[in-house]
Amino acid sequence: MTADVVVIGGGIVGCAIAYRFSRAKLEVVLLERGDLGAEASRAALGVLAPRGGTSTQDSFFRLCQAGLQAHRDWEAELGEDGVRVPYKKEGLLELAFSDEKQSQLDEGLRREKALGIRVERLERRELLQMEPAISPGVRQALFYPDHMWVENGQLTEGLGQAARRRGAEVRTHCGAVTLRWEGSRLVGVRTGDQELGAAYVVNAAGCWAASVDGMPARFAPVIPVRGQYIELDDGLQPTFRHIVHGKKTYLVSRPGGKISAGATVEHAGYEKKNTAEGLQGILKAALTMAPALKERAFLGAWSGLRPCSRDGLPILGPAEPANLLLATGHFRGGILLAPVTADLLLEYVQSGHQPELLGPFSPLRFASEG
Ligand SMILES: Cc1cc2nc3c(=O)[nH]c(=O)nc-3n(C[C@H](O)[C@H](O)[C@H](O)COP(=O)(O)OP(=O)(O)OC[C@H]3O[C@@H](n4cnc5c(N)ncnc54)[C@H](O)[C@@H]3O)c2cc1C
Repeated sequence: MTADVVVIGGGIVGCAIAYRFSRAKLEVVLLERGDLGAEASRAALGVLAPRGGTSTQDSFFRLCQAGLQAHRDWEAELGEDGVRVPYKKEGLLELAFSDEKQSQLDEGLRREKALGIRVERLERRELLQMEPAISPGVRQALFYPDHMWVENGQLTEGLGQAARRRGAEVRTHCGAVTLRWEGSRLVGVRTGDQELGAAYVVNAAGCWAASVDGMPARFAPVIPVRGQYIELDDGLQPTFRHIVHGKKTYLVSRPGGKISAGATVEHAGYEKKNTAEGLQGILKAALTMAPALKERAFLGAWSGLRPCSRDGLPILGPAEPANLLLATGHFRGGILLAPVTADLLLEYVQSGHQPELLGPFSPLRFASEG
């Protein structure tokens, strides 16, 4: 059997690629060794917030902005394919509880306005009117009206379903996958006792990208960075209208009566678990920001492993040979960046030219490090 594209890994990135490519009428096989979206893509908080830019030339900032726009475009396209995913579009509030944080926000406000980001400063009174559950100890906040939230588990699942509807073959519990080489040519993959020919192979195996059998590991220097989050009962009405961020912790009222709070950022190898210290840190931050949560029922805790590259930036596009494509290293932004990643890889495959936005994230940047 042969396919135009074999995608390895059924997290949000692999599912987005399978969907985008099959919608463009390419023959796609997606290989996932477990269930779709059961790893980092399930554990994420779903916040879609392009941050961290220092100039309009900042390539990562531009990628993140394109990522947010891609979600808007894809929401409509997925609707055409019968998939409706909950988004929250009321924006994000960034809170300051100290003088130091207040000055950081002031600095951020100037820089981000200069970058063209829609952001405004809120004084305490305005903020507490918008979100009455926030502690009166807050100093001020920045409001980002364009930032959004998506139900990431449903989005990943929906992308898998939509890919199937568009003709992709999605194989879960696929068993071991090995890249097949003929000399220096990549000709496809072997899975179980089956050989699949492929014009392109996309490695979207998250923090396991380097360990795919037959993969030249130098193109995928990724390590796992653990994140933990908790869920609390949200009562009868959503506590927060907006996404709230402060003290390195997000608070999100999700549809279905749950509040998610998190997440930690820990270098702890491939050990996916919730720890006493991790949960204590999240609860402390959450209750400082919103003391009203202290009587809420504790519903559960999750953890996942973010794929983080050697320089902290995504690894996207053709390696060597040029039909081996990488789509990993999305670290803390894989939910935000999955649709734009798929759009850019498709553009590359269809045109044979690397889109300009992809250039800075080439896998070849590591190969040349020697
Ligand atoms: C707690 C937490 C909070 C987060 N919050 C956000 C957020 O708010 N916003 C945001 O944008 N991002 C967030 N992230 C980051 C985001 O979750 C990741 O960047 C994203 O999920 C990465 O997607 P992925 O598809 O690359 O990886 P994964 O979801 O890990 O998927 C990789 C898949 O590849 C499969 N696989 C691995 N090896 C093989 C193989 N050899 N053969 C076949 N299959 C294989 C795995 O089983 C897995 O299903 C968060 C992450 C965590 C942990």
